Amino acid sequence: MAISTNLPVACKEFENYLNKLFNISDCDIRTIIKDFHSEMQKGLSGYESSLKMIPAFVDRPKGNEKGKFIALDLGGTNFRVLEVELDGKGNSSVLAVSKFVIKKKDMQGTGDQLFDFIADSIKSFMQENSISCDKQIELAFTFSFPVEQTNIAAGTLIVWTKGFTAKGVVGEDIVIVLNEALKRKGISNVKVAALANDTVGTLVAKSYNVPSCDIGVILGTGSNACYPEKMSNITKWRGVRKKDNMIINMEWGNFDKLPITTYDKEIDKASPNTGRQRLEKLVSGMYLGEILRQVISDLIQRDLIFKDYGTNVFHKPYGLLTEHMSLIEGDNSDNLGEIENFLVENGIANINLHSKVLLKKLCHLVSARSARISATAISAIITWMDPELKKNHTVGIDGSLFEKYPGFKGIMEEVFEELFKDKAKKITLELAKDGSGKGAAIIAAVAASSEK
Ligand code: ADP
Ligand code: MG
Repeated sequence: MAISTNLPVACKEFENYLNKLFNISDCDIRTIIKDFHSEMQKGLSGYESSLKMIPAFVDRPKGNEKGKFIALDLGGTNFRVLEVELDGKGNSSVLAVSKFVIKKKDMQGTGDQLFDFIADSIKSFMQENSISCDKQIELAFTFSFPVEQTNIAAGTLIVWTKGFTAKGVVGEDIVIVLNEALKRKGISNVKVAALANDTVGTLVAKSYNVPSCDIGVILGTGSNACYPEKMSNITKWRGVRKKDNMIINMEWGNFDKLPITTYDKEIDKASPNTGRQRLEKLVSGMYLGEILRQVISDLIQRDLIFKDYGTNVFHKPYGLLTEHMSLIEGDNSDNLGEIENFLVENGIANINLHSKVLLKKLCHLVSARSARISATAISAIITWMDPELKKNHTVGIDGSLFEKYPGFKGIMEEVFEELFKDKAKKITLELAKDGSGKGAAIIAAVAASSEK
């Protein structure tokens, strides 16, 4: 699109400044990878580290697991209940799924309140889908928060993230908390067979039929990853070593050796988990809209854009969503009509073309930084497992940010090309839709069959 940008000089200068500020350079990438490796090493050895590197107690599936399972997926904006069937031949299908919106009052009230809501949702799901309340059914719980797991169906919550703060749950065993809520609601035939993180569910679900899949990543409301680690490298492990490998939930959202801006600092300061989840706050869907809003607020205050408008979408914390950025960056029309409509709906009418172009560029600054950091972190895991990139690596990725943000995947792939040149072909990014739900069911099946 050939548009002359007759922006005021000050605005162009500021744009150049922002370009530099948000750029993740080749040099940054190499430094981040080095720091990532060092934090991984520390986390695996039990030393203080921003990467917790939590053993997930999960076996890889054999593909012959069979049966029907209920899976819960809790960890973001929506809470989902699924009925999943495994056919014993490596295929998994979702028979039914219900989404429930978690209200802020339940996210940030008491633990009992939150888990009563969860148990009520399970109850109505079972009624709606005629799931018997007499016959025992196994349940898999994808709980996507940092949990110190003690076995396949037990683990204590270390800390809430992503805006959850429900009181009285940190330090408790999540499975016991869920069981108590099920009991309060009179659900007696559901047995919690597995507790899993969504990254682990995603890796297990993808590797069920793609053997080269060895990394699971989440790019949704939050961000995290897991990979299979050699038991001998998990030097903090004190248990019996029955297997050669174990999946490690990295909790990479908390990685904190990253270049940050004043906008990121503001967001961190205003969040309920200040100082934590620094990577997540630069990368995940929950925060990208807010980062952009901070940048635009700054431009408004400097009188460089959207002059003379009253209170609008850019004045309300978290008023601008990552979905809106998707829409803005996805507008490829000549007159940027979609952007125009969005602005009009949000109190900014009669905007000139330069401002719309600028808005689109600003979205790109924020989204490209997110994609480049995500790809850098994936590169760190790959080079940790396979320094010379001898093998093929498929990365299973779940999350609406990766799935829906225009051009996100392409920017990630550019980083692999910058780093690995021809060998970048060995890395494949694949959407693992429903990975966390299906994967949890597969994990429950593995747990149930090993019990038998
Ligand atoms: P969760 O991570 O909560 O399990 P999702 O993977 O669906 O669920 O991610 C939801 C997040 O993805 C939202 O919080 C939002 O930030 C982001 N998102 C949703 N829709 C889009 C979209 N069209 N484009 C980019 N990001 C999106
Ligand atoms: Mg999810």
